[in-house]
Amino acid sequence: MAKNLQSVRGMRDILPEQSASWQYIENIARELFTSYGYNELRSPIIESTDLFKRSIGDTTDIVEKEMYTFDDRNGDSLTLRPEGTASTVRAGIQHGLFHNQQQRLWYIGPMFRHERPQKGRYRGFYQAGIEAYGIDGPDIDAEVIAVAARFWKKLGFKKVRLEINSLGSNEARQNYREVLIEYFSKDTSLLDEDSQRRLHKNPLRILDTKNPKMRELVEGAPSLLDYLDEESKTHFAGLKQRLDSMGIEYVVNPRLVRGIDYYNRTVFEWITEDLGAQGTICAGGRYDGLVKQLGGRETSACGFGIGLDRLQLLVEEQNLNQADNNPHIFLVMSGEAAELTGIKLSENLRDSNASLRLLMNAGGGSFKSQLKRADKSGAAYALILGDAEVESRNIVVKPLLTNDEQQTISLDDLSDFVEQHIIN
Ligand code: ATP
Ligand code: MG
Repeated sequence: MAKNLQSVRGMRDILPEQSASWQYIENIARELFTSYGYNELRSPIIESTDLFKRSIGDTTDIVEKEMYTFDDRNGDSLTLRPEGTASTVRAGIQHGLFHNQQQRLWYIGPMFRHERPQKGRYRGFYQAGIEAYGIDGPDIDAEVIAVAARFWKKLGFKKVRLEINSLGSNEARQNYREVLIEYFSKDTSLLDEDSQRRLHKNPLRILDTKNPKMRELVEGAPSLLDYLDEESKTHFAGLKQRLDSMGIEYVVNPRLVRGIDYYNRTVFEWITEDLGAQGTICAGGRYDGLVKQLGGRETSACGFGIGLDRLQLLVEEQNLNQADNNPHIFLVMSGEAAELTGIKLSENLRDSNASLRLLMNAGGGSFKSQLKRADKSGAAYALILGDAEVESRNIVVKPLLTNDEQQTISLDDLSDFVEQHIIN
């Protein structure tokens, strides 16, 4: 084997030890989204580069520095998706999902961004998201936020803060843009390189800077909320009313602009203090112009993306995984007759108990070494079958997690016993 064959920097293997908490989180996500009437849309991981340039925006960090872009064998420029919304919109337009109808969609899967890897920030990471199309009132913004709130409740997260803001209409943002350019132009030496470049192209981006040296400057900037158009003000008020009515707490953060250009009106982030610098676990908002921008008809839209890697860190660090993937039963067999009876017995038990997790010993071994495997597997019970038991049509049931006595039961009663005492 070649030396030093390693995964690509920033791309992670999820090992069996962690996969239980991943599955736990993903299962909750799927059930939750479905329970609110959202349906899954699976899109390809590779799209044409143009799609992301036209949606996420040319002057964003993602498009300027983070995309995995390459030419394929035909010379077409392709990109590994850095986020899920662009593909969802592309697919929706392509398949006519938005025409004269409402759509509630969800997705889950890997995304790729060439960033500096650190805790909670990877080059290959996972997002789950929901998106609602064709609904323009604040009721749907509130529903989308409520889905996230319920996600945290189901996972047992306590300290998550919701920040909301409104970016207003395109015209309102255009006015605000001028005000911002004026503000930041007063002393351009205070701006870092990225911000100087973006000053005239996209000054709102400066508010989203991660550079701590610019914090004071950004905090002194005029507030977008003072430049909102009337309709956006009403929309924002409607959202706040609904959040209040559901008892979902929030903070209005007038500097919140998000790192993607397609947003308008509502934007929001859910932030935890428990992960250090990488505290944003969910981000979203409204993107009413995006469908049209990508060639579809005018369609209002609202959604969020959740960083699943960060959820998994929280679940693991706070021991919140309630799911159990360990086997109920480890089947120990010794002797040829026992092995033949045992393999058939395993299949019969699986036939009659659909939720049974049974790990059958394979590869032989002494009773002692098989019982060691049983302990290591985390199984709750060992079922022990030797040639003598086969002869007398019995099996030994040995509890592994308690000090209860082992007992011998008839093979004819085993299925009922498993159902009554082992699975439940
Ligand atoms: P950040 O400010 O952390 O860079 P972002 O604004 O780039 O986030 P979005 O594009 O809105 O993030 O993505 C939504 C969520 O996906 C983020 O809030 C975060 O939880 C997660 N996320 C984004 N980039 C990464 C990454 N490189 N690794 C892990 N999770 C990520
Ligand atoms: Mg980012």
